[in-house]
Order: sequence, then structure tokens, then C-alpha cells
Amino acid sequence: MENRKVRVRFAPSPTGPLHMGGVRTALYNYLFAKKNGGDFILRIEDTDTDRFVPGAEQYIIEALKWCGIEPNEGVGFGDGPYAPYRQSERKEKGVYAQYAKQLIDAGHAYYAFDSKEELDEQRKKFDALKKNFSYNAITRLNLKNSLTLSAEEVKNKIDAGETYVVRIKIPADEEIRFQDIVRGWVVVNASQLDDKVLFKSDGMPTYHLANVVDDYLMKITHVIRGEEWLPSAPLHLMLYRYLGWEDVMPHFSHLPLLLRPDGNGKLSKRDGDRLGFPVFPLDWEDPITKEKSSGYREKGYFPEAFINMLALLGWNPGTEQEIFSVEELCKVFSFEHIHKAGAKFDPEKAKWFNEQFLRAKPDAEIANHIRTSVKNHFQFNDDDRRLSDSFLNRAVQLLKPRVQFENEMIEKGNYLFTAPTVFDEQAIAKKWKDGCKEFFESLKETLSSLDEFTASNIEPTFKECAAKNNQKPGDVLFLFRILLSGQGGGVDLMGMAELLGKEEVIARITKGLLVIAK
Ligand code: GLU
Repeated sequence: MENRKVRVRFAPSPTGPLHMGGVRTALYNYLFAKKNGGDFILRIEDTDTDRFVPGAEQYIIEALKWCGIEPNEGVGFGDGPYAPYRQSERKEKGVYAQYAKQLIDAGHAYYAFDSKEELDEQRKKFDALKKNFSYNAITRLNLKNSLTLSAEEVKNKIDAGETYVVRIKIPADEEIRFQDIVRGWVVVNASQLDDKVLFKSDGMPTYHLANVVDDYLMKITHVIRGEEWLPSAPLHLMLYRYLGWEDVMPHFSHLPLLLRPDGNGKLSKRDGDRLGFPVFPLDWEDPITKEKSSGYREKGYFPEAFINMLALLGWNPGTEQEIFSVEELCKVFSFEHIHKAGAKFDPEKAKWFNEQFLRAKPDAEIANHIRTSVKNHFQFNDDDRRLSDSFLNRAVQLLKPRVQFENEMIEKGNYLFTAPTVFDEQAIAKKWKDGCKEFFESLKETLSSLDEFTASNIEPTFKECAAKNNQKPGDVLFLFRILLSGQGGGVDLMGMAELLGKEEVIARITKGLLVIAK
């Protein structure tokens, strides 16, 4: 078993958009596969037709692509040797029926004919006694199944086309134990389990049977999935045992839950946007209710930042390092440092990650990303100098330390692209003194005679001019900023003046003075 090639799978059910917890599960599978030179598979578990949501499968594929964690085999990523990878298609090929039959023949599963009404009746009886009904080693002896009916009765019912389900026959009292890589030994007594439905008379397997059969057939070596599946693991172990596959049973790792920022409960799909941040990788519109939820992509996150943030939600590298590329994560990832406790999601930290990736990106790359939005926002012609490489790259360089997202640059740097029309009057009133107007008039003259209009030339010129006019440099610098940008804070002032250029700076001073030096 141990020298088998590592094969892991992400096996979502297409019941809606992928939650960020699901992306983290996919990510850990991806990292583990890459680290070990293994395969990463996408299998779509769509056996529960009642919960099928159109568009969900496409969403899952697109989300994995956007995140850059692409499976090398599976739905949407090319057929490998075990195709098809969609369980509904596998069912059509008759993959599962034989295993249900094998379990029945070996006495580990049985037919049950109880109707929904009959089971509801049982539930009511138990409710009256303040107990929970479960179809198990005790109750099955009084219900309508192949353990209580004669072989002939069972045959007659099946031949007559009566609907049935196949249930696993869980022993009354047996210790079930397995080692979870994250949690260590997990021990459960079989009396805690119920006889879960494995297969239905329409040929459809349930999640449990299809999941175990496919993991076996697809030669999966490690099952890495969310903690919510831990209660199902003992049942899965029983299935491996009863099907005779225990020696190739995958290793299990159940990942810690993602918790809300206040640590109060699991971060669920329903939290989408309600708490002020997205819980989905991409925007999603529910095909039935038309309800919209926002995604990290559309909010302007870089996929690398989103992935880096998710990697550290439930795992640590064992060092202080926080910023990782996906390639680096592939090298350092290991199960050892996965936490047992739930991981609290911190939306501010998510933004911080984006900021770090933004800072590290070349200015020209960001400039290319925002060029079209700048053009459209300000309605610039194609040949406008403000769309040129030199202008945009420099604008990006000035704005980069002041934003966390590329898409904030237009709003925060509005004044770099267009002259202000409103000025912070209150700030002006505090600093404006007699002589200021004269100072700016003489500044205009001095600046117009500058040959090289660069930050390093403008600064000393400005200071000399302030001294000549008996003005405090700090105060007039502040007013200069307001004349150029309309506001009291912003990007590096001399850098901004250089970027705007001589003519524009002089024009803005002239226009600004008309408004503020009344
Ligand atoms: N189909 C299950 C889900 O939706 C897969 C669980 C597992 O990985 O075994 O998450």
C-alpha cells in the first residue's frame, strides 16, 4: 500500500457554489498531490438528484481554474484512465449495482421496503417517547426488510417492482477504530451508527456507497476532506471491510472547520456577504431564487492572495513565514502542521494578503490590468498620455503603498487623472494666510522656468521660493497639495507634481487659486 502512487481527489456535490472551505479542501488535496508527485482528481458526486443545482459543476471547475489549483484528471480537466468522473454517468454504466449486490450476498447489507409513511410513523412513535428514531440493529428487527421477511416474500416484492433501498447491516456492538492523520485514533462503537441507505431500487447509489466504491476504483490513497465528514468515516471503514478492500483503504485526513470571524460557529454558505465579506471564490447567482452572492475574484482579490490566505487557515508552515507562492506551498505543505481546532477566518487578514501581493507585483503589470478601467472611467481617447506606459506605471507606483486592491486605484488616485473641482475648504482655512496667494503666483513663475520638471528639482525650488516669500514650507506644501489634488492627504506630493507635468501643475495652481483665494 505504502509504495502506491499518491492519488487524491476533490469530490464536491454540485449542490451550489463552492464555499471557500471547499476551495481550501481542494487546495490541500492539490498541495499534497504536488508535494508527493501524485495525481489530483476532480470527481463530481451528483447522486443526490434532489439537491442538484444547475451551473454548480461549471462554477466549481471555473473556481479551481481561477485559483490555479487544477486537477490533472477528472470532470472538466480531461479524462484519465478511470473515466467517467461524474457519478451520475458511472451509475448509468452500472458501476455501483454489483457492489450493493456483493454486500447483500455476503450478509452485510439487506433490502428494506419500508415506505416513507411507515418510517414517519416510527419517528412519531419515538418522538412520543422523547427518543430519536434510527434504523439500526435493534429497530431493523421490527421493520419491513429482508431480515424480517421470508426469502420468498422478498423475491416477490422485488419481482413485482416494489421500490426498495439497500441498507448496510451495522453490527449491534463492535468497536470501530481508524487512524485519522489529523486527529489520531478515532474510536466509535457500532451501536452509535445507523443502517445507512447505500443503494436505491432505481439503481442510484447514495453518497456513501458511491464515494467508497469510486475511491477504491480510482485508486485513491488519501482522503482529505472537511470535518463534517468525520461522522461518516466509521461507516466508510465498514464498507471497505465488508467489500474486502481494507488493505487498500485510503488514509483519512479530516480538516478543521472554518469558523466565523468571532469564532462563533461554522462559516456557512448562508453567511455569504451577510458578515461583510464573500464566502465564495466567484460571484454566484442562484438559478432559482436569483439571489446574488459576491466572490473574491470580482471583489478584486488576486487568486494567489486568496490561496495563500486559505492555505494558512488550518495549517501552518512551522515557521514565521506568511507569504507563499503556490509553488512554495507545494514544497512545504505537510499534514503534520494541520490544526485540529477550527480556524477562525479574519477578513482583514484576507485584505492584508492581497495588499502584500499587490506590493510585490511589477508596476507595469498592474498598469496593464487597470488601463481599460482607467480609459473607460475617465473616457480618455486611446492616445491620451494618461494611458501611456510611462504615465500609468508611475501612477501605479505612487498609489501602490496606499491601496490594498488594484480596483481602488481609480477612486483613490482620481486626482492623478483629472483636475480636482472641489477643494477641502476646512483644511485650507486652517493654513491659508496673507501672502499665500503671492507665494503661489511666484511659485508658478519659478516652476515655469524649470528645465527638468522632476521631483528632485521641484522640491528645492519650492523650498527656496517659500523662503523668499517668508512662508513656512510645511504650510504651503500642504496648500500646494490641496491645489493639485483637492485634498489634504494622498500620494507622494513631489512625485505627483512630476507625474502631472509642468503645464498641468501650473494650470491646476491657477484654477485652484481662483476657487480658494477669493
Ligand atoms: N461529495 C462530498 C462533498 O460534497 C464528498 C465528501 C468526501 O470528500 O468524501 O463534500
